[in-house]
Amino acid sequence: MIIGIPVEIKDDEARVGLTHAGAAELVAAGHTVLVEEGAGAGARCFDEDYAAAGAEIVSDVEELWERADLIVKVKEPIGPELDRLREGQTIFTYLHLAADEELSRRVVDSGATAIAYETVQLEDGSLPLLMPMSEIAGRLAPQEAAHYLMKPFGGPGRLMGGVPGVPPVRTLILGAGTVGSHAAKVAVGMGADVTIMDINTQRLRSLDREYGTRIRTHTSSPAHILEEARESDVIIGTVLIPGARTPQLITHDILPELKDGVMLVDVAIDQGGCFVGSRPTYHHDPIYHTEGRTYYCVGNMPGAVPVSATTALTDQTLPYIKLLAEGPFEAMRARRDLALGLQAANGLLVEPGVAEAFNLPL
Ligand code: NAD
Repeated sequence: MIIGIPVEIKDDEARVGLTHAGAAELVAAGHTVLVEEGAGAGARCFDEDYAAAGAEIVSDVEELWERADLIVKVKEPIGPELDRLREGQTIFTYLHLAADEELSRRVVDSGATAIAYETVQLEDGSLPLLMPMSEIAGRLAPQEAAHYLMKPFGGPGRLMGGVPGVPPVRTLILGAGTVGSHAAKVAVGMGADVTIMDINTQRLRSLDREYGTRIRTHTSSPAHILEEARESDVIIGTVLIPGARTPQLITHDILPELKDGVMLVDVAIDQGGCFVGSRPTYHHDPIYHTEGRTYYCVGNMPGAVPVSATTALTDQTLPYIKLLAEGPFEAMRARRDLALGLQAANGLLVEPGVAEAFNLPL
């Protein structure tokens, strides 16, 4: 099969759909890999690396989309990419169709077979192609907080881990799922004073087993959140209720109780955010200040670390790309986890969530 890896054209996106190591494996399996010139540069996968792996470097993007049977990307197709997507072609990428009606219609109307990373789902309900990005966002969150707590970057001038005689920064993490537990790992590593809250006691038990007294766990409820939030210097929001808007846990009532100079990192912003006052921001302008609070609400945090994120993504997608390259429909018939990624094929919408969101026929 011919597999195409285009340059990501969305703003601030330096990741690429496949590393050169991944390309080498596909070439070894007998496939042709076309890589648009410069596609991997932002992730330090250079044209010469892809060429050495046996891929073909293509300078004409139209030619790449024309020739490829399978397009592997990172972000959803936008602008001219939607004009190039065609019947007989499969696209495998993060699609997030339920967030965009126009995108959903265009993808369906293209006639292409569209498979979304974010809905590939294992039997235990886990989302293997979403998880690496949650892990990265979680580990980045305390790092970003630490950065913007510093005076030259607009913060009050506090050091996460403190020093002997000066207490560490009190850090509250709301949600102990993938993002939350990884945020806890880094915050504890930085020496912060960490409290983590969840409604799921099992998750708190597992963190308690892992960190012992180095972390405080607290069941999430409005009263407990108020109690913890008013003492915190950093609050990291990572809650998720699958299929629903993120609940706003830092409410209008809690906001006036927060410390002056508090840093609010809303990782859950891509699902609406869990703090009142959160609005999406971008890497080129990631924070804003409101009444003594600093908000960081970047919706694609892993985009800040394209080298790590591209490698983590390819490690998880490659086994699925190999299956798809043998024939997308055969692969989906054989593997239910992959079939759950299917959004549209032959001009028909397949994903019930998208149909429901926009009242579109299945
Ligand atoms: P997850 O399902 O692993 O974890 C969510 C946790 O929230 C669960 O443990 C759940 O029990 C908990 N929760 C639900 N309601 C709660 C409440 N009222 N109080 C406390 N905890 C509550 O999800 P995840 O993979 O950790 O993702 C979390 C969020 O981060 C999602 O919205 C995801 O889209 C987002 N995310 C954002 C970025 C980014 O770049 N901004 C990157 C990756 C993930």
